[in-house]
Amino acid sequence: MTDTKSISGVGPAVVEKLARLGLRTEADLVMHLPLRYEDETRITAVADALPGVAAQFQVEVVSAEIAYRPRRQLIARVADASGEMLLRFLNFYPSQQKALAVGAQLRVFGELRGGFFGTEIVHPRFHVVREDEPLPDRLTPVYPTTAGLAQTALRRLILRAVARAEAAGALADTLPDDLRRRLKLADFAASLRFLHEPPPEISLAELEAHGHPAWRRIAFDELLAQQLSLRRAYEARRERGAPPLPGTGALTGRLLGALPFALTGAQQRVRREIAADLAATYPMQRLLQGDVGSGKTVVAALAMLQAVECGYQAALMAPTEILAEQHFRKLHGWLTPLGIEVAWLASSLKKKQKTAMAAAIASGSARLIVGTHALIEEGVEFERLGLAIVDEQHRFGVRQRLALKQKGLSAHQLTMSATPIPRTLAMSYYADLDVSVLDELPPGRTPVLTKLVAESRREQVTGRVRDACRGGRQAYWVCPLIEESDSLQLKTAQETYERLTSELPDIRVGLVHGRLKADEKAAVMAAFVANEIQLLVATTVIEVGVDVPNASLMVVEHAERFGLAQLHQLRGRVGRGAHDSACILLYAQPLGEMARKRLKVIYENNDGFEIARLDLELRGPGEFIGSRQSGLPLLRFADLDDAALVERVRQVAEEMLRDWPQHADAHMRRWLGGREELLKA
Ligand code: ADP
Ligand code: MG
Repeated sequence: MTDTKSISGVGPAVVEKLARLGLRTEADLVMHLPLRYEDETRITAVADALPGVAAQFQVEVVSAEIAYRPRRQLIARVADASGEMLLRFLNFYPSQQKALAVGAQLRVFGELRGGFFGTEIVHPRFHVVREDEPLPDRLTPVYPTTAGLAQTALRRLILRAVARAEAAGALADTLPDDLRRRLKLADFAASLRFLHEPPPEISLAELEAHGHPAWRRIAFDELLAQQLSLRRAYEARRERGAPPLPGTGALTGRLLGALPFALTGAQQRVRREIAADLAATYPMQRLLQGDVGSGKTVVAALAMLQAVECGYQAALMAPTEILAEQHFRKLHGWLTPLGIEVAWLASSLKKKQKTAMAAAIASGSARLIVGTHALIEEGVEFERLGLAIVDEQHRFGVRQRLALKQKGLSAHQLTMSATPIPRTLAMSYYADLDVSVLDELPPGRTPVLTKLVAESRREQVTGRVRDACRGGRQAYWVCPLIEESDSLQLKTAQETYERLTSELPDIRVGLVHGRLKADEKAAVMAAFVANEIQLLVATTVIEVGVDVPNASLMVVEHAERFGLAQLHQLRGRVGRGAHDSACILLYAQPLGEMARKRLKVIYENNDGFEIARLDLELRGPGEFIGSRQSGLPLLRFADLDDAALVERVRQVAEEMLRDWPQHADAHMRRWLGGREELLKA
């Protein structure tokens, strides 16, 4: 579809509403597909209506008034020959009020229910009916819309756009004919027309089953657009050169010799994958996934040393100062004894230190650098950056990712993530990356015992904390998540801290939260690492990366508010040492349905990938993947449960990019309309 003309013949108010739906061009309108369908081909008598079943009525307005019950609302009494009902509007426009004049004939669509004032429909869709207006002969599509933009108006614009596009030849199939036949896919234009304007003989059930050939075609196309754009971005980066960094083994060998442990099989495998990428003449673009505690840091350290061996710099960047500091501490501990310096750069450094560090990075005297986003800020120029490692990249903002892209343009890139992504999701949304998985935990981990405890038994939990600390262990107490209010969360954390301090007078309690200055945070964490603090009260700032093996008890308050990935991350903070560990999830009653399911999953499972899979099942991909919102539209139609489909589409995408690049371009334009540029961030 080449029609990127803005939408004509509508006023600025409508333009603005359409834009809210992401509809800016005629082509966008064509691709705006219905959410569902309604049957307006029949009239139901008011007396025959079944509660809770949507139906259409033809009625006359008996009376209409604005009432205060207690809220201002518009209530119309309407009737047909069989009976009466009320139409109730809590929000309404003057035009609607005007349309409900006594004696007006209406067609009303909605679900009738027994209300306090009689049977009623709340916020029905209706229009004033002309004399002898025929009933539609086909099902009515219902589109995603926004306040103040009526379905009828939107539908009219869409059908007009489809007709124009068709006349202009803009609905041509983007799949080459023989490919389409081989895949047994329906024709694109026919599918689109079918969905916007279903033929009369089609039933509601047929249309709503997304297995219909028209829907299958659309889902296939959508997934294909995603795969094409991600694979193209992947290939574009591969076209760029990068310094080959085969390494010499001089430094990595020394680190391996000095480590107090041997690499797990998974670490060895992933290390080989990364080493091979680094040796190539194009940039690595790899995602390293590994459950909490799977030992990603040492793999990162080995990759960095390989780059340094070749005379290049290597940088490791983490989204928070606590996390970056953990990495620094670890690398520093491993490498300093080997005579390898690790440099540190974070925003909390004094201006003078920062300037000095920037100079060391620019001159190349700093080879191996750990830090926060301060690493990619203006004023930091690397002498020759060979490898950039980003931990938990999804926690960085889009702007920072862009800056990173600029800095690391010709560097090898490794992204690390502790949030496992189920396979089909990874295959679709992460098709622009090679993926390595650490699927084995280091030996000697003590399994963490998970307990679900009602809030009413909090005292017992406090007792357990006391016992653990008296026994020489340490504990975390994570405060409830209060998403809507940062300051409320802070207050809760402070109160919890004060309460625990007074309840446990012989225990040294500390507090860490997001509002502390970076150096204050670092000081608290250092005290916890040194066991000067025995019980650490924390907000979710400790969610990722903190590594204190002596901590054996984790208490999470209001666990029902946390997501599964978060709970799994939090639980991963314990069970890192030789002692028996436990994670106590305090919950408030009554539990909602969803919260109950989540807590059951975390209680019954320890494996991060399994938890992620169940999480995907519970929430669907939209919310699950939300964190990767870099401008790529979420899949609306494709169903990622179908691994075989994702696999096939992926192959088709490669084939099209290779053999039919123009079709591939046309397909991406149709589905992404230029947004694919954003992907390259
Ligand atoms: P994560 O993948 O969560 O970042 P870390 O890299 O922090 O995990 O590793 C967790 C802990 O396991 C660290 O204390 C690390 O030193 C240790 N560790 C890593 N690899 C091994 C191994 N092969 N054997 C034993 N301990 C290991
Ligand atoms: Mg880590």
